[in-house]
Amino acid sequence: MKLSINQVVKQSLAFVLLSGCLVFTTNAQETKKRKPIIDVHVHAMGGNPNGSPMCPWFLKDMPGGDPNQDPPVFMNTDCINPLQPARSDAEMDAAILRANEELNITMVVSGDAKVIHRWHKAAPDKIIPSLGISNADQMTVEQFRDSLSTGFYKVMGEVAPQYQGMSPSDMSLDEYFGVAEELGIPVGIHMGTGGNGTINITRPAYRASLGQPFLLEDMLARHPKLKIWVMHAGYPMADQMIALMGANAYVYVDLAGFIWSYPLEEIHDYLKRLVQAGFGKRILYGTDFMMWPELFETSIQVIESANYLSEEQKRDIFFNNAVRFFNLDASKFE
Ligand SMILES: [Zn+2]
Repeated sequence: MKLSINQVVKQSLAFVLLSGCLVFTTNAQETKKRKPIIDVHVHAMGGNPNGSPMCPWFLKDMPGGDPNQDPPVFMNTDCINPLQPARSDAEMDAAILRANEELNITMVVSGDAKVIHRWHKAAPDKIIPSLGISNADQMTVEQFRDSLSTGFYKVMGEVAPQYQGMSPSDMSLDEYFGVAEELGIPVGIHMGTGGNGTINITRPAYRASLGQPFLLEDMLARHPKLKIWVMHAGYPMADQMIALMGANAYVYVDLAGFIWSYPLEEIHDYLKRLVQAGFGKRILYGTDFMMWPELFETSIQVIESANYLSEEQKRDIFFNNAVRFFNLDASKFE
């Protein structure tokens, strides 16, 4: 193909303009800090030398099983780039700090107290410690009150009575919720799926039926000033979740866990349903991070790619809703 001088000039000009734009974009990205994200659902643990790699959305093809055979394997490494686990404490700590700094993620963290203190020391402004309790054997009400009163812990969670075969309205937890209500501490409660098909073997007390969002109602009625968020958004019980949020203005949800484990289309259907029902201001971003550092990018991408959400709705989910829910000061994130 022959080009006239005119065409060549035009094309070169276009190229110069285009590459100019590219250079500009790259520079802008490099110099501009990423917008802040609040991940409300991070589990503190050390690195695991035996941790297995993981392909996100691994539950997209549920295997069948038989009690007389080995339990079916749900996780697989059958994807192009399985996420690798942090295999040592040092690797884990570095990965968290990188997410705090490079991805500008502030995290609400529960789990191993030693690890929480370590992460908090490394990035005090980016780690919000959370105190989890799921049954009264773990600590007395007074010990619980003392721990919260020191001011280190700002949040109560993950509370997971479902794994203990208990409703969140079980009276054995009531005084703990009372303390959180009195001190103005927000509470995260696990409601939804769990166990990936092996729960009757690994955690036989667990009941899927105890993840029904309606089970929160009695407890909420006893504690009218308690602010809670339903972890895992009560997935897959959208109807109950929507009815509960409609009735209680202080009930929020997080998207943790299911956004990287269940089939992508299903995740988007669920998230879209909650937004469509009018609850875009009650959805908190969360990962349920455990051991795979790249899970932070994977999970962010799920929200970024949701073409049914406006930019404003995405920022609500990533940041604004959590600022409101946890009474944070947005100016401190600039
Ligand atoms: Zn959970």
